[in-house]
Amino acid sequence: MTSQNAARGFASLAVHAGQEFDPTTGAVIPPVHFSTTYAQDGIGGLHGGYEYGRSGNPTRTALQRQLAAIEGAAHAFSFSSGLAAEDTLLRAVLRPGDEVLLSNDVYGGTYRLISRVLAPWGIGLRIVDMSDLSAVAAALEERPARIVWVETPSNPLLRITDIAGLAALGHAAGALVVVDNTFASPALQQPLALGADVVVHSTTKYIGGHSDVVGGALVLNDDALAAEVGFLQFGVGAVSGPLDAWLTTRGIKTLDLRMQQHSRNAAAVAELLEGHDRVARVYYPGLPGHPGHELAARQMSAFGGIVSLELESGEAARRFAESTQLFQLAESLGGVESLVNYPDAMTHASVRGTELAVPEEVVRLSVGIETVDDLLADVEQALRV
Ligand SMILES: *Cc1c(COP(=O)(O)O)cnc(C)c1O
Repeated sequence: MTSQNAARGFASLAVHAGQEFDPTTGAVIPPVHFSTTYAQDGIGGLHGGYEYGRSGNPTRTALQRQLAAIEGAAHAFSFSSGLAAEDTLLRAVLRPGDEVLLSNDVYGGTYRLISRVLAPWGIGLRIVDMSDLSAVAAALEERPARIVWVETPSNPLLRITDIAGLAALGHAAGALVVVDNTFASPALQQPLALGADVVVHSTTKYIGGHSDVVGGALVLNDDALAAEVGFLQFGVGAVSGPLDAWLTTRGIKTLDLRMQQHSRNAAAVAELLEGHDRVARVYYPGLPGHPGHELAARQMSAFGGIVSLELESGEAARRFAESTQLFQLAESLGGVESLVNYPDAMTHASVRGTELAVPEEVVRLSVGIETVDDLLADVEQALRV
């Protein structure tokens, strides 16, 4: 990050970092570089370090600079998916016999990656409720872990973990502290500034923001770890393609605006739900009654766009999820359009029957940036069905 970057605000960095105009044409938007290979001035005479598309691509470099700037970090790496980013980080850090301490409400794919892909290579896994730091302390006292991995807000129950407190506990036990910042995005929460070592993103969600590109990222400060991650990104090759990188870059330019509107709309939806007699419980960290409300107010600048609700039965939850009209029934989240998801049979079907199972009465809403009255009317009519 340049000293100029350090002085600029989030929205300015999101628009400008890595986005200098093209010096050959003056094009304000840098071109998308599709070339897989780069001409050399004599053997080894590279232009700007570019040699081959897996090792480096200018469009990917631009995105990586933009990602590092908006998380206030020294290094960022862009991958073909969130899980590819996670896999690269886990393999860069872990060795057979090491253990990961995972929060009990993480993305199902993260749990699957560790428990089913990495476990056969000798990686252990323990699960703990990280919104309870005393439980984390007890787990680390019982046995050290190489990595402490948390999602906050969590998916889909919006539990809030104290990132600074977790980082202190993790570091005292010699662990690397990883925060999956997908739900908040760097517009609302900056885990590295709170003491985390690595931020993970599924850029498929809010960062891309338009449900049209799958991608992932790792953002970190430590130079030695960055060298390991960079080596594996090159050596294994799960890089983002140029068009994917460019779409993600375009998404980031409006991230700040979008997150504010997502948060405003989600707050209105959460308030409507909270006052509704058909709704048993609302999960939204912006509501004063949410157990993590005060903590979220401290470590986030707004409460985000995800709201979960609990209805009286699994059947009522399914009926609600199938009755909205503007909220489309689909997996994923974080796009400009509102989505409804029934976790038990959709996003979280792979963790059914495990410690990460989601109650069958729960529905998750990804509240988009549409006109709020239309969203409220849609939720109301679906609750009446
Ligand atoms: C979607 C998601 C992932 C996985 O990312 P992909 O881009 O789908 O591979 C990881 N963490 C969270 C919180 C997610 O929502």
